[in-house]
Amino acid sequence: MHLAYPGMQLRVIPVTAFRQNCSLVWSPDTGQAFLVDPGGDAETLARILEQAGLTLDTILLTHGHLDHAGGVAPLCRILAQTQGKAPRVLGPQKQDAFLLASIAEQAKHFGLEGLENATVDAYTTDGQTLELLGRTLRVLHIPGHTPGHVAYVDEAARIAFVGDILFRGTIGRTDFAYGNGPQLVQGIREKLLPLGDDIVIMPGHGGSSTLGAERADNPFLRVG
Ligand SMILES: [Zn+2]
Repeated sequence: MHLAYPGMQLRVIPVTAFRQNCSLVWSPDTGQAFLVDPGGDAETLARILEQAGLTLDTILLTHGHLDHAGGVAPLCRILAQTQGKAPRVLGPQKQDAFLLASIAEQAKHFGLEGLENATVDAYTTDGQTLELLGRTLRVLHIPGHTPGHVAYVDEAARIAFVGDILFRGTIGRTDFAYGNGPQLVQGIREKLLPLGDDIVIMPGHGGSSTLGAERADNPFLRVG
């Protein structure tokens, strides 16, 4: 899947049995890259980076679920060797620490191999801005699917990485013990939609969309 990310290159790589959309973003000028949600298939991701001649600077995590964060530890281990330096790992918000620490257990439950607990260099906070490869990404805390879920928004490029907050035509599931449906819908309405209809969203699963298309057609966002 190829999407426009003005000034950058973007490639979406589905990972794990859940076909989670891991986004690889890089600067064509410097060959520096960041990944959003390397949930698994660490060897494949490392090979793609190497074949493209890219150096992974940063990993961003939207939330602590296994298909989004399970590949972090093995990928950092591989890159510490091949790049001579592991990437820094940022996010999600610290309320998801309990999920990052139970990935191996979740993976066993699903019968998935190669997914490990993740540790991060820094948790993100709501409203924080990250300077990343010459871009500015804003962090929005939008809980409900998980308590510490965040979105990363490049307002200049008009693109947002939204993990399992919002999908084309639906929203993230909230039927976990720690889920909260009304809170999720409120967060989408109050924090995401005001960014503007033209913002392209890259969700954790399925195809991309825009905030305008979801505002118009997403049944979960209809004012009832
Ligand atoms: Zn999730």
